[in-house]
Amino acid sequence: MNWGLIGASTIASEHVIGAIRANGHEIISVLSSDAVRGANYAARHGIARSTTSLDELLGTQGLDAVYISTTNEKHHPQALAAIAAGKHVLCEKPLAMTPAEAAEMVRAAEAAGVVFATNHHLRNAGTHLAIRELIASGRIGRVLSVRVFHAVHLPPHLQGWRINDAAAGGGVIPDITVHDADTVRFCLGEDPVDVVAKAGTSGMGLGVEDSVMSVWSMPSGAMVQAHESFTHRFAGSGIEVHGTEGSIFGRGVMTQKPVGEVELVTVDGRSAVPFGTHDLYARSLGVFAAAVAGEGRPSADGVDGVKSLAVAVAVREAARTGQTVRVNYEG
Ligand code: NDP
Repeated sequence: MNWGLIGASTIASEHVIGAIRANGHEIISVLSSDAVRGANYAARHGIARSTTSLDELLGTQGLDAVYISTTNEKHHPQALAAIAAGKHVLCEKPLAMTPAEAAEMVRAAEAAGVVFATNHHLRNAGTHLAIRELIASGRIGRVLSVRVFHAVHLPPHLQGWRINDAAAGGGVIPDITVHDADTVRFCLGEDPVDVVAKAGTSGMGLGVEDSVMSVWSMPSGAMVQAHESFTHRFAGSGIEVHGTEGSIFGRGVMTQKPVGEVELVTVDGRSAVPFGTHDLYARSLGVFAAAVAGEGRPSADGVDGVKSLAVAVAVREAARTGQTVRVNYEG
């Protein structure tokens, strides 16, 4: 399969270029808004072509699919153009600036008959797959609550638009809350109904929030507590799922790497839960390619991207208004 990169980004450079190649696919061109940066990026990563023209990239001979990892406000127009050109699209989260835009992308892909997916990497982690399986198999009984610990320290090389550019989709809510929404939806198999939240700045955000705490109600009655931040150097990450018959503790698992620990606690005591240590992004790309070949669905499809964005948008609105906000999945 031949890929084009839309965006000369850090995430492509650190994870996705390797994941595409690990699946035996080729990257035949990269789009950058800056000709020199694009050419340097292509040379550094062994990509034959670079261009500043989206039309030229989409017209590249033999192109099958594109991976979109530009800043968030560009995802919507670039995805619509790629879909109109008949390309399969793996788009970064958040899919768009609003759920309505994201839903438009999903509808366009359905109408064009192309595969459209969201790169929510965490649901590809062996840890989260194991947690989801434990919950689905009933090992912890009825889920009472979930606590998500995702307050991290944004490394200096990522402290650009994320911390100071609302128009580019900056802020911790579109950056990390959207991932936590997807991970909770994936592990529990249900979508939040409504949310309350407080957000603010704690040393990094300039005009956008860098920290947020929220509480979500699930249809089953379970409660979810989520904490995301860019400013916590030593907090560590995790997810806990507490049920009537047991608790699951995932430590160090809200991450891009196949690391961490998962522990199950029941009346029988404590036990370490085994999990796969495959690369999260390579799995995401592999499942996407299988979907293109007509086998199964992407690990996070377009609808997942819309729903996880809808939760994040509701959290931001709840923090802004101080009100309980119902999650609007209709877009
Ligand atoms: P970057 O800031 O690295 O890249 C975004 C855009 O910024 C690029 O498309 C590029 O524009 C421009 N850019 C990159 N480097 C420079 C530079 N040195 N000087 C000027 N401009 C530059 O963002 P990320 O890679 O961190 O994030 C991109 C997208 O991926 C976002 O939507 C983000 O939410 C998502 N993401 C997802 C992750 C996941 O695990 N699923 C993890 C990290 C990010 P151009 O292309 O025009 O050259």
